[in-house]
Amino acid sequence: MRRAFLIVLDGLRRDMVTPELTPTLMRLRERAEAFDAHRSVFPSATRVVSSCVSTGCYPAKHELAGNTMVLIEDGRLVAHDVGHPGFLQHKRKVTGRTLARPTMAERVAGIGGAAIYSNVSPGAAYAHDPDGHGTVFHRAGSFGPGRRPVTGWTADRITADAKGDRELAERFVADCVLGAAKPALGVLWLAEPDSSSHAYPLGSEAQLEAIRSADATLALVLEGIATARGQGDDILTLVASDHGHQTVKGVIDVDAELVKAGLKASMESGDVVAASNGTSVLVYVHPDHAARTAEIGAFLRSQPWAGETLGVDRMHEIGQAPLHGLAFAVSMAADEDANAHGIPGRSFAAKPAAGKPDRMNCGQHGGLARYEQSPFLMIAGGTFAAGTSRSTPTSAVDLAPTVLTHLGVTFDGLDGRALQTG
Ligand SMILES: [Zn+2]
Repeated sequence: MRRAFLIVLDGLRRDMVTPELTPTLMRLRERAEAFDAHRSVFPSATRVVSSCVSTGCYPAKHELAGNTMVLIEDGRLVAHDVGHPGFLQHKRKVTGRTLARPTMAERVAGIGGAAIYSNVSPGAAYAHDPDGHGTVFHRAGSFGPGRRPVTGWTADRITADAKGDRELAERFVADCVLGAAKPALGVLWLAEPDSSSHAYPLGSEAQLEAIRSADATLALVLEGIATARGQGDDILTLVASDHGHQTVKGVIDVDAELVKAGLKASMESGDVVAASNGTSVLVYVHPDHAARTAEIGAFLRSQPWAGETLGVDRMHEIGQAPLHGLAFAVSMAADEDANAHGIPGRSFAAKPAAGKPDRMNCGQHGGLARYEQSPFLMIAGGTFAAGTSRSTPTSAVDLAPTVLTHLGVTFDGLDGRALQTG
């Protein structure tokens, strides 16, 4: 039968795919097609990319605008951490829908279904299947069709580190790749090297070790897929990262800056809200205060920490729409300088309203800068040519149409395009 497997090594920069760090990926490259201009989306953040991968659409269509984002509720701007396990169900109550576009899990429900094994945030995991068409395994709760809780193995002991990645991968191979159920689509999303890239400087031994361990975990998955192929399955294997990383060169509290400039009433006020997305920020303006928008734009564009700042007139260029008062999409300012370990690309980060601020000199992502926008992608099987590479730009939204084409599922209305040629 036709099947597709997507394995994501979260946060691995394309320039860190090397013979020394990722021997498994280098071997895969010999029998896969590599996409050397692959890009993330905006914000280049895991929950957003997960939604773009699952729907084949940009945030303007699926409506998950950021890792943190605002919903207008009872006439107020309310900021949300999208990583929270209940966020998408809450969004359904507020807006009438979870993601506003069907997921791959929904589209393949009638031809074998989907199984998602995710070791990142609950919000990112459930973005693959928020309405319960397939099965999602995550430590915060595993759900099968109809969002009924899974019985038996439930991923509740899986830790968000290299050890947890390995256990999850072993389970993915045993149950999803080689088990009797044979879902048409299997997704395995590892926590590393992203988790360690936020905690340690890029290029430090601890960060490099996380890359090596993710690559070693990938080896056992590819072995399992080879066994399934030997048993006669026609398998498309996609191995990718969702974004890269920049080095944090400064942390800016954008809400505090707006208050100081007299453009926001107070830190807690609902007139203007800055939703941090790592090295980017989404700035929301309540409709009652829309008269202030031009002044806020002029302020943002004059700040040394703000890079590209797109207002309502241009946000379609990065796949965003002015939903729930979104007025500006800001990629924080970046440069090409190297960090202490010789890894180029530094950015300012926006301080999150809740939770820990970013660690100076460690990794972060979310914006449009070069290295956070340089994930990797390799595809093996189907019509993809072994040992070749393509230099035309591709995007996270291209994965769904590529998978659906392999599985023989027709679709329309996606932002991405199938990458099969001929
Ligand atoms: Zn990620």
